[in-house]
Amino acid sequence: MPDRSFLDWPFFEQRHRDWADKLDAWCAKNLPVDHSDVDTACRDLVARLGEAGFLKPTALDTANPGPLDVRTLCLTRETLARHDGLADFAFAMQGLGTGAISLFGTPEQQQWLDRTRAGKAISAFALSEPRSGSDVANMDMTATRDGDDYVLSGEKTWISNGGIADLYTVFARTGEAPGAKGISAFLVPADTPGLEVAERLDVIAPHPLARLSFNDVRVPASAMIGKPGDGFKIAMSVLDVFRSTVGAAALGFARRALDETLDRAGNRELFGAPLFELQMVQGHIADMALDVDAAALLIYRAAWTKDMGAPRVTREAAMAKLFATDRAQQVIDKAVQIHGGDGVRRGHIVESLYREIRALRIYEGASDVQKVVIARQIK
Ligand SMILES: Cc1cc2nc3c(=O)[nH]c(=O)nc-3n(C[C@H](O)[C@H](O)[C@H](O)COP(=O)(O)OP(=O)(O)OC[C@H]3O[C@@H](n4cnc5c(N)ncnc54)[C@H](O)[C@@H]3O)c2cc1C
Repeated sequence: MPDRSFLDWPFFEQRHRDWADKLDAWCAKNLPVDHSDVDTACRDLVARLGEAGFLKPTALDTANPGPLDVRTLCLTRETLARHDGLADFAFAMQGLGTGAISLFGTPEQQQWLDRTRAGKAISAFALSEPRSGSDVANMDMTATRDGDDYVLSGEKTWISNGGIADLYTVFARTGEAPGAKGISAFLVPADTPGLEVAERLDVIAPHPLARLSFNDVRVPASAMIGKPGDGFKIAMSVLDVFRSTVGAAALGFARRALDETLDRAGNRELFGAPLFELQMVQGHIADMALDVDAAALLIYRAAWTKDMGAPRVTREAAMAKLFATDRAQQVIDKAVQIHGGDGVRRGHIVESLYREIRALRIYEGASDVQKVVIARQIK
């Protein structure tokens, strides 16, 4: 039984506890799903999560506008990740893909949000390029003004939901200034002529992922999100909201690894007693529990601080993401060790957690980058 005591922490309100309970019950009935065809699985997950109302926190409610509730986003990712990494992915991308529209979109652009929140449209966030992953400001893709339109040319890579998305938030160089100040954001529907999937990318924990070509993709000037030259600032504001939620997904994976380990150590007999009785195993389990609680404290501190109205939570979110993802990797590694040979058997839950966790230390700012961010924030 997963530890639920953290829900009593003062970071949460009763509505958060009720949401976590309702979602957990839904997950127990509906997850995990079959991962053999990730496109079909993700489309289906988005539709079902939407139908059940669980995608509502991912974007602005146009009928009742207000800030995104980061605690609900984190609780949802933690819970979904504990049950099924692909369900967490499907949820997370609906938020990341539309974050710029929620925060900076025009009312016309925000009409998309009713569909993404209902699971009727799938969204994606297209920032990274072959030459600019961590070095975002160095992007090559251009958006050139042509009359009432912009024409987008270049490539994006590592785009989650690439190939199945209905809309992309795309960042491109508009050239108001060199570097970070010359980038703008655009809402590009997937069926816009010239937008093509150049390559599908396969990774150790597969999900829909692609390299995209933009071959003179023409969009009206009204497709720009925010002002010309504000794209970098917009991308960072979106990551400021969603970065802690990556930590929350890692926390969900770590909690699952700990639960599986407690179960295994309690039931596996070794040298005439349960594995749990070996003190070295107890040492590992204590380290795992400590990492889980410490990660949860950092994540929900960051989420609470943002929800209380802090304009930016750069330091808190970087700490939460760095610690939770790095430590989850260690927690899961220990879980694999305590499971012995079963831990590396393809299809075993801890084997899949071992694969699922790895990319979280790379995307939305690699661990090394988070360290640079934290150091600069406390200088
Ligand atoms: C599974 C997955 C899904 C993704 N989904 C998306 C998506 O939906 N949309 C999107 O736009 N992008 C996405 N990405 C891209 C992701 O954000 C980039 O991979 C990430 O920013 C790293 O960029 P890079 O791969 O080009 O590595 P590089 O930028 O080449 O960095 C390589 C390594 O160098 C080190 N490093 C980098 N900068 C520093 C620094 N300042 N100080 C010290 N060390 C440093 C880090 O260890 C880093 O991992 C995804 C990536 C993966 C793996």
